[in-house]
Amino acid sequence: MNIVVSACLLGVDCRYCGDNCKNEEILKLREEHTLIPVCPEQLGGLTTPRLPSERQGDLVIAKDGKDVTKAFQDGANQALYVSKLYECETAILKKNSPSCGFGVIYDGTFTGNKVPGDGVTAELFNQHGIRILNEDNFKEDI
Ligand code: SF4
Repeated sequence: MNIVVSACLLGVDCRYCGDNCKNEEILKLREEHTLIPVCPEQLGGLTTPRLPSERQGDLVIAKDGKDVTKAFQDGANQALYVSKLYECETAILKKNSPSCGFGVIYDGTFTGNKVPGDGVTAELFNQHGIRILNEDNFKEDI
């Protein structure tokens, strides 16, 4: 099947700090599935590297205080477009991210604290019925 995956988990240097979080176990899924990489923050027009951002309610705020909500929303819409184009019913998304995190995200204080919540893209995927897994639990369901 086609699975949409956070690009950083596939080794793309798209994290805010310019590196990746390559996961060899996820890459192994290529033997049986087609993996579709997306980085919503890049798709939304943000640079790499970039300042870290966190959700604060309905907004997404960069560490310098700039409101980057629109870029995050644009990126989520682009990622959804790609997912639908490839008819992906399952996503493997990076935990805790303000874009890709599902169920738990950073709390908006840039202190490393986490709270229940979804990243902007994960929230949109969930609204559209895409099953969301992460780098810790994907083996249980694929
Ligand atoms: Fe990875 Fe998602 Fe952040 Fe892009 S937006 S770097 S894919 S966690």
